[in-house]
Amino acid sequence: MKIAQNTVVSVNYKLSDAQNNLIEDGAQPMVYLHGGYENTLPKIEEELDGKEVGYSSTLQIEPEDAFGDYDPSLLKVEERSRLPEPLEVGMQFEGMSEGSDEEPTIFTVTEIADDKVVLDGNHPLAGMALRFDLSVIDVRAATPEEITHGHVHGAHGHHHGEDDMGDGEGDHFRSQPLN
Ligand SMILES: [Zn+2]
Repeated sequence: MKIAQNTVVSVNYKLSDAQNNLIEDGAQPMVYLHGGYENTLPKIEEELDGKEVGYSSTLQIEPEDAFGDYDPSLLKVEERSRLPEPLEVGMQFEGMSEGSDEEPTIFTVTEIADDKVVLDGNHPLAGMALRFDLSVIDVRAATPEEITHGHVHGAHGHHHGEDDMGDGEGDHFRSQPLN
């Protein structure tokens, strides 16, 4: 079966930066619903469209097609007293960036000084060119339910429990492995 809209694609992947430093070794395959459901990066869908099991490729994706350029204005310094304790570098908080009424931004603590904390609202992979080694290991037709929900069910996917008939805020599979 060829990869096309409304197929479920399983891909073994390895993610590196442009200097070939490993970022993620993809111990679990990425499983996503193909066809513009924003389950994965559009460039990956573009690369795999029309391909079959056994296809493999190395794909370099520039920041503008991945997680955007690094935006220094998303760097904020906060009073430490405004943040919960205990506080550690790497912790993440949801917040609104100033002057924006869009989606809340996830801020990552990148530095802690005595009474100040540096929060970075950029995606951890912002500003980076990403290199994906991809290898297609499975392609199947999506079920009508998966197409309605816009995500994959089943192994590696979203499990709807027996007493969970709805599609609540459950543990939806994020085929985007980069969070
Ligand atoms: Zn679902």
